[in-house]
Amino acid sequence: MADQLTIAVDFDGTCVTHEYPYLGQDIGAAPVLRELANAGYRLILNTMRSGKLEREAEDWFKRNNIPLWAVNCNPEQKKWTKSPKVYAELYIDDSNLGIPLTTNEKSTRPYVDWVRVRELLVKEGYL
Ligand SMILES: [Mg+2]
Repeated sequence: MADQLTIAVDFDGTCVTHEYPYLGQDIGAAPVLRELANAGYRLILNTMRSGKLEREAEDWFKRNNIPLWAVNCNPEQKKWTKSPKVYAELYIDDSNLGIPLTTNEKSTRPYVDWVRVRELLVKEGYL
Protein backbone atom coordinates (compact mmCIF):
# COMPACT_ATOMS: atom_id res chain seq x y z
CA MET A 1 0.00 0.00 0.00
CA ALA A 2 2.80 2.37 0.89
CA ASP A 3 4.61 1.57 -2.36
CA GLN A 4 5.31 4.62 -4.47
CA LEU A 5 3.83 7.13 -2.04
CA THR A 6 6.26 9.96 -1.46
CA ILE A 7 6.96 11.72 1.81
CA ALA A 8 8.94 14.96 1.79
CA VAL A 9 10.95 15.47 4.95
CA ASP A 10 12.51 18.73 6.08
CA PHE A 11 15.86 18.54 7.87
CA ASP A 12 16.63 21.27 10.42
CA GLY A 13 14.17 21.16 13.30
CA THR A 14 12.61 18.04 11.78
CA CYS A 15 15.29 15.33 11.59
CA VAL A 16 17.54 17.03 14.15
CA THR A 17 17.45 20.06 16.44
CA HIS A 18 17.91 23.51 14.90
CA GLU A 19 21.63 24.18 14.76
CA TYR A 20 22.01 25.28 11.16
CA PRO A 21 24.60 25.51 9.63
CA TYR A 22 25.81 22.81 12.02
CA LEU A 23 24.26 19.39 12.34
CA GLY A 24 21.65 19.34 15.09
CA GLN A 25 21.22 16.70 17.74
CA ASP A 26 19.27 13.47 17.63
CA ILE A 27 15.55 13.86 18.32
CA GLY A 28 14.36 10.33 17.54
CA ALA A 29 13.57 10.89 13.87
CA ALA A 30 15.75 8.11 12.46
CA PRO A 31 13.81 5.03 13.66
CA VAL A 32 10.51 6.46 12.41
CA LEU A 33 11.96 7.48 9.03
CA ARG A 34 13.56 4.02 8.69
CA GLU A 35 10.20 2.45 9.48
CA LEU A 36 8.57 4.55 6.74
CA ALA A 37 11.28 3.63 4.22
CA ASN A 38 11.00 -0.05 5.16
CA ALA A 39 7.24 0.18 4.67
CA GLY A 40 7.88 1.20 1.06
CA TYR A 41 7.53 4.99 1.16
CA ARG A 42 9.83 7.03 -1.05
CA LEU A 43 11.49 9.67 1.08
CA ILE A 44 12.47 13.02 -0.35
CA LEU A 45 14.82 15.20 1.65
CA ASN A 46 13.23 18.63 1.28
CA THR A 47 15.62 21.18 2.75
CA MET A 48 16.81 24.76 2.32
CA ARG A 49 20.34 23.39 2.77
CA SER A 50 22.46 23.47 -0.37
CA GLY A 51 25.96 22.45 -1.44
CA LYS A 52 28.15 21.08 1.35
CA LEU A 53 25.48 21.64 3.99
CA GLU A 54 22.97 19.67 1.93
CA ARG A 55 25.46 16.82 1.58
CA GLU A 56 25.92 16.79 5.37
CA ALA A 57 22.17 16.29 5.70
CA GLU A 58 22.28 13.49 3.10
CA ASP A 59 25.13 11.89 5.06
CA TRP A 60 22.92 11.93 8.16
CA PHE A 61 20.42 9.77 6.25
CA LYS A 62 23.21 7.42 5.09
CA ARG A 63 24.63 7.06 8.61
CA ASN A 64 21.18 6.20 9.88
CA ASN A 65 20.53 3.68 7.10
CA ILE A 66 17.56 5.60 5.76
CA PRO A 67 17.33 5.35 1.96
CA LEU A 68 16.49 8.62 0.22
CA TRP A 69 14.62 8.53 -3.07
CA ALA A 70 15.57 12.11 -3.97
CA VAL A 71 16.83 15.41 -2.60
CA ASN A 72 14.96 18.68 -3.12
CA CYS A 73 13.05 17.31 -6.09
CA ASN A 74 10.51 14.72 -7.12
CA PRO A 75 12.22 13.08 -10.11
CA GLU A 76 8.89 12.09 -11.67
CA GLN A 77 6.89 15.29 -11.51
CA LYS A 78 8.43 16.84 -14.64
CA LYS A 79 6.30 14.37 -16.58
CA TRP A 80 3.12 16.11 -15.52
CA THR A 81 3.91 19.59 -14.17
CA LYS A 82 6.23 22.55 -14.61
CA SER A 83 5.68 23.57 -11.01
CA PRO A 84 8.87 24.06 -8.95
CA LYS A 85 7.14 22.88 -5.78
CA VAL A 86 8.43 19.49 -4.66
CA TYR A 87 5.45 17.17 -4.96
CA ALA A 88 4.79 14.64 -2.22
CA GLU A 89 1.74 12.95 -0.76
CA LEU A 90 2.84 13.95 2.73
CA TYR A 91 5.17 16.62 4.12
CA ILE A 92 6.85 16.37 7.49
CA ASP A 93 8.27 19.74 8.46
CA ASP A 94 8.64 21.57 11.76
CA SER A 95 7.06 24.59 10.04
CA ASN A 96 3.86 22.73 9.15
CA LEU A 97 0.74 24.03 10.86
CA GLY A 98 -0.32 21.50 13.47
CA ILE A 99 2.84 19.40 13.52
CA PRO A 100 3.55 18.18 17.06
CA LEU A 101 6.56 20.03 18.42
CA THR A 102 8.55 19.69 21.58
CA THR A 103 11.55 21.30 23.17
CA ASN A 104 13.93 20.68 26.04
CA GLU A 105 17.44 21.53 27.13
CA LYS A 106 18.73 20.26 23.74
CA SER A 107 17.34 23.25 21.92
CA THR A 108 15.91 26.71 22.51
CA ARG A 109 13.76 26.31 19.38
CA PRO A 110 10.95 23.77 19.17
CA TYR A 111 11.56 20.73 17.00
CA VAL A 112 9.43 17.83 15.75
CA ASP A 113 8.08 15.50 18.42
CA TRP A 114 8.61 12.12 16.75
CA VAL A 115 6.75 10.13 19.39
CA ARG A 116 3.59 12.07 18.58
CA VAL A 117 4.32 12.16 14.83
CA ARG A 118 4.60 8.36 14.81
CA GLU A 119 1.28 8.14 16.67
CA LEU A 120 -0.26 10.38 13.98
CA LEU A 121 1.23 8.25 11.18
CA VAL A 122 -0.39 5.18 12.73
CA LYS A 123 -3.69 6.96 13.38
CA GLU A 124 -3.84 8.26 9.78
CA GLY A 125 -3.00 4.84 8.36
CA TYR A 126 0.50 5.55 7.05
CA LEU A 127 2.07 2.98 9.40
MG1 LIG B 1 12.91 23.19 9.43
